[in-house]
Amino acid sequence: MTLRAKIAAGLIAVGCIGGAADAWAAEEVNIYTTRQEVLIRPLLDTFEQETGIRVNVVFAKEGVIERMKSEGANSPADAILTADVGYILQAKSDGLLQPIESEVLNAAIPSQYRDPGGTWYGLALRARPIMYAKDRVDPSELSTYEDLADPKWKGRICIRSSSHIYNQSLVSSMIAADGVEKVEEWAKGFVANFAREPAGGDRDQIMAVAAGECDIAIANTYYLAGMLSGDDPAQKEAAQKVAVFWPNQDGRGVHVNISGGGVTASAKHVDNAVKLLEFMVSDEAQKIYAEAVNEYPVKPGIPPSDAVAGFGEFKADPLDLAVIGEHNVEAVRLMDRAGWR
Ligand code: FE
Repeated sequence: MTLRAKIAAGLIAVGCIGGAADAWAAEEVNIYTTRQEVLIRPLLDTFEQETGIRVNVVFAKEGVIERMKSEGANSPADAILTADVGYILQAKSDGLLQPIESEVLNAAIPSQYRDPGGTWYGLALRARPIMYAKDRVDPSELSTYEDLADPKWKGRICIRSSSHIYNQSLVSSMIAADGVEKVEEWAKGFVANFAREPAGGDRDQIMAVAAGECDIAIANTYYLAGMLSGDDPAQKEAAQKVAVFWPNQDGRGVHVNISGGGVTASAKHVDNAVKLLEFMVSDEAQKIYAEAVNEYPVKPGIPPSDAVAGFGEFKADPLDLAVIGEHNVEAVRLMDRAGWR
């Protein structure tokens, strides 16, 4: 967008905002997020105290992109915070993000976890390992994601639907490593090993392993950590029956994804949005965020929460996450052909 077009869009947008007082408030930034506000509020409070910039949060579970599309250039969102690079790449390809330049972000975030073009940045990491029933699976039986197509796992695997972006990104990372043909063969064998039709979220798969419905699940680490450290006794008891296995440790490593964000194309408070993203990679914020959401800090050298640290250390797939978007369509089609509902 040219500077003139940007100014024009800005002027039009300001004219359309109903609450003039809000539009002219001293300093503020508006974020749309799929994160629960209760989780990120402590972080935002610290940012507000340190900078005097007020943070207005719109919580939009699964709906950040849809909402921004319908609002167009009038969207009050200055930044989005959301999970999974697949979702963020969709926002980028829909033209909802603008490139920014920040030495602070580039220095803190390893290059595979941010857009070289500056439209999106990983702010925390989540790993998607194998989880297993401690009383029914010997970890020496486990090795790689690829091995989960072996008939020895018949009727023993639980995983959520292929319509969910977490599985699409996992399969995309496998396509990047193994190629479409091999992964399609794998998916057929993998689906044949399902204990049941995919239903529910990652937490439900962990619960099903604990309940004996299946022996193996694939789930993001923060779910198990949240169950272990949360205050629901049933979930805690279930989580204690389940352990993490880090797959592909002799090869490329476990699939790691991001939660992250970017500055919107429609942002009226670009500088404040950049300040917020930069704050989120400070040592202090990385610690608060990691404790609150049980994700891994993206900035090297910052320790994770105790619950997450308990899963042990692992080798992460160094795949450039931007590549995952390139394989998304193939991944979705392949899973469909393999009968992964
Ligand atoms: Fe999640």
